[in-house]
Amino acid sequence: MNARNRQNGPLRLLKEIMSKPDGANKRVLIAGGCGFLGSHLCDELLKRPEVTKLVCVDNLWTGDVANIKHLNDQRFHFVESDVETFRSDHLFDEVYHFASPASPPWYMAEPARTISANIVGALRLLELLKPGGRFAYTSTSEVYGEPLVTPQPESFRGWVDCTGPRSSYDEAKRATEALLFETRRTRGLDLRVTRLFNVYGPRTREDDGRAISNFITQALGGKPITVFGDGTQSRSWGYVSDLVEGMARFFWRDTFDYLGPLNLGNEREISVIDIARYVSELTGGQPIVHLEPAPQDPTNRCPDLTIARQVLPGWSCEVPFEEGVRRTLEWFREGSAAQQAAGETRAARA
Ligand code: UDP
Repeated sequence: MNARNRQNGPLRLLKEIMSKPDGANKRVLIAGGCGFLGSHLCDELLKRPEVTKLVCVDNLWTGDVANIKHLNDQRFHFVESDVETFRSDHLFDEVYHFASPASPPWYMAEPARTISANIVGALRLLELLKPGGRFAYTSTSEVYGEPLVTPQPESFRGWVDCTGPRSSYDEAKRATEALLFETRRTRGLDLRVTRLFNVYGPRTREDDGRAISNFITQALGGKPITVFGDGTQSRSWGYVSDLVEGMARFFWRDTFDYLGPLNLGNEREISVIDIARYVSELTGGQPIVHLEPAPQDPTNRCPDLTIARQVLPGWSCEVPFEEGVRRTLEWFREGSAAQQAAGETRAARA
């Protein structure tokens, strides 16, 4: 430190903070930060000291403020707004686009809104990125549609029905990938895209409707577990902490030789009926009922993680499926116990 700096004390400090290079003073925007995955990413983002401001925009369609209520951090700011119309006075060094429903009953109920959140949302978010800033997007294994190869490598171009019941989600994700990768090609966007296979865990909505959370909430509510079709269809199920760690490693590292979309998920494939049986076993033998098969339900999903292993050495899904389901069950149990206690307190007060 030179003599002049020593004399100027607080003023020097202020000047230093103002003139810090981009790498040390980051304004970050996350769209969909109140959602299941987005809120977990907020937790990770706030562990980074160089993040000086984290703005979370969410319209609370599928997200929930309960997911961010523990974020007692002055750097964190929540704005309730649609991503497509979100306005800000400044641009951001990093932008994370998580604003989309991911559960079939939710996106099928509002297909236009799903398409808009992904594609129009991405267009808006690109406008809010600083020149040279980084854009990260959570895409999905749904871009593969009905898989013709197993496991699915990133190079598999997919077999998707653009007029089918899952098309609003599948094609919105595909079109958003196209928008982002073409923006990188034409404008040099610093881009990270992950293709997430099925993710489950705490902070899933009770009424989300995806298999694991649905089976758990059904069983805890004393209702039969509903399996669509015979349940032989399978998925790879990744516990949320493993997937979030994979994303954080991929999104935050500065230099990569690999520039394409990255599969992230659990390599262990388990059938839906086996999950139903396991949840039933954990909850005292709730009955399982078989309903009509879901239309165009993919028969299987399993990530080829060859590239992930090269790009993120040492990363893999470590939480065994059985353990992850038990943790998720506990989280739902605690939530319903808390709700019940709150209801009893209200009733006692009345
Ligand atoms: N599923 C089911 N019963 C349910 C919810 C889902 O049998 O109550 C099945 C669904 O048909 C699919 C699998 O579980 O084969 C995974 O569905 P989910 O909605 O979790 O995710 P997807 O991979 O279909 O997007």
